[in-house]
Amino acid sequence: MEFLPLFHNLRGSRVLVVGGGEIALRKSRLLADAGALLRVVAPLIEDQLRELVQGSGGELIVRGYQEADLDGCTLIIAATDDEPLNAQVSSDARRRCVPVNVVDAPALCSVIFPAIVDRSPLVIAVSSGGDAPVLARLIRAKLETWIPSTYGQLAGLAARFRAQVKGLYPDVQQRRAFWEEVFQGPIADRQLAGQGDEAERLLVEKVNGKPPHAPGEVYLVGAGPGDPDLLTFRALRLMQQADVVLYDRLVAPAILELCRRDAERVYVGKRRADHAVPQDQINQQLVKLAKQGKRVLRLKGGDPFIFGRGGEEIEELAANGIPFQVVPGITAASGCAAYAGIPLTHRDYAQSVRFITGHLKDGTSDLPWNDLVGPSQTLVFYMGLIGLPIICEQLIRHGRSADTPAALIQQGTTSNQRVFTGTLADLPRLVAEHEVHAPTLVIVGEVVVLREKLKWFEGAQSQV
Ligand code: SAH
Repeated sequence: MEFLPLFHNLRGSRVLVVGGGEIALRKSRLLADAGALLRVVAPLIEDQLRELVQGSGGELIVRGYQEADLDGCTLIIAATDDEPLNAQVSSDARRRCVPVNVVDAPALCSVIFPAIVDRSPLVIAVSSGGDAPVLARLIRAKLETWIPSTYGQLAGLAARFRAQVKGLYPDVQQRRAFWEEVFQGPIADRQLAGQGDEAERLLVEKVNGKPPHAPGEVYLVGAGPGDPDLLTFRALRLMQQADVVLYDRLVAPAILELCRRDAERVYVGKRRADHAVPQDQINQQLVKLAKQGKRVLRLKGGDPFIFGRGGEEIEELAANGIPFQVVPGITAASGCAAYAGIPLTHRDYAQSVRFITGHLKDGTSDLPWNDLVGPSQTLVFYMGLIGLPIICEQLIRHGRSADTPAALIQQGTTSNQRVFTGTLADLPRLVAEHEVHAPTLVIVGEVVVLREKLKWFEGAQSQV
C-alpha cells in the first residue's frame, strides 16, 4: 500500500494554501467544507477565492510565498503553476514534518486528495495513489450511482440510537447483528424512501424488543422504454433488493436481467386484446405477496402513471394498508423522441405536447378530435397502431392538414429501434409497407421535420 487512508479532522485548524487561481479555489472549498481555517497566499487571488476565505473567517496574504507562512499550519497545499515554487513549498513543509499536498505532483506530496463520495456523515474516499486520478474519479462515479443520496440520513438515524443500542447489547456480535438487520431491512427501506419518521418509529420498536412488524412492500417502478441506461438509480436499487418481480411485456429482457438473480419472476403481461392476467388479479396478487412479507417489485414499461394503470394498483394497495413506493420512469414519448431526434416542443414549431391513448374503445367517437387539430401542438399516440387509419382520418377530417409531418417509432431506445417519417395522410401506408408492429409510438406535428434538419441518423443513441 503506497498511501495509508486516514480521515483528517481539520475543524478549527489552520491550513495554508499557496496559490490564488482556480485549483487553489477548488481545494480551498473542500478544506472550508471540512471546517479548516484557510490561509491563502498569492500575489494575485481571484475574487471567488477571496470571498470564500473572507466568508469563512480565513486569512488572505496578497504577496509571494514565504517560509514563515507555514507557521501554525497543520496542512499545506501548493496549488500554483510555478513548479520550482511548488517544490520549494513541499520541501519546506517536509522539513518541518507538516503534511503537504502539491496539486498534480504526487512525488512532491506526503498526502494526497482522494476522490470523494460524500454522504456525510458517511464519506467514501477513493485513491489511485496519484497514478491514475481519472480512474479513481470513474470509480467514484460508479459509487455515486450505487449509493443512494439519502444514505447519510441512514447514518444519522443510527447515530441517534448508537449509545442506547450499545447499552442494550454489550456483546459486539449481537450489536453487529442488530445493525445489520436495521441497515438491510424495512427500517433502511423507509429511511431511503425519504420516510424518516416511519424509519425512526420502527427502530424505536426494534430497540424496545417488540417483534418487528415488517409487512411486505410494493415497489411500483417505471423501467423506461427499453434501454437499460434509462433506468433511474432508485429503480435499479429496488430491482436489486426485491424478492419477487411482476413484469409485463414492455419490460425489455436486458432490464429484467438487472433484477436480483434469485428473485422470483412472474410474467403478468397483457396483449392488446387478450388480457393475459386481468388487472384486478394483478392487484390482488400484489396485495397477497406483500402480505406474505415479501418485497414485491411491480416493474412497468415507461412510467407507471402514464397509460400504465399504476393508479389502480396503488389504490388497491392503499385500501389494504400495504406500504408502497412509486418510482417514475422515462415514458415512451420522452425516450423515443430523444432517440429519434424529434424534440417534442420547440419555440418555432410546438408550444405544447399531448400524450393520447390511441386505443379507441368503440370506433371513432371517444377522442376529443376538435382539441387535437389546433396548430403548434405535438400529438403523441400510445397504443395507436391498430387505430391508426381512424386516427389519421379523423384528424384530417377535423381540420389538421393532411401534410402534417408524422413519425412512427417502433421499439424506441432499443437496438431494434426503427423510425419512419411521412405525413398524416401516409402513415397507414408506412405501417403496411414496413410491417411496423407494437410497441410503436406515433408522433404527429411539425416538430417531426426537425429530425431531418438535425441530420439524425439511426443508432445515434441506441445502446442496448
Ligand atoms: N407506461 C408506458 C406506456 C404503456 S402503454 C410508458 O410510460 O411508456 C403501451 C404503449 O406505449 C405501446 O403501445 C407503445 O405505443 C408505447 N411504447 C412503450 N414503449 C415503447 C417503445 N420502446 N417504443 C415505442 N413505443 C413504446
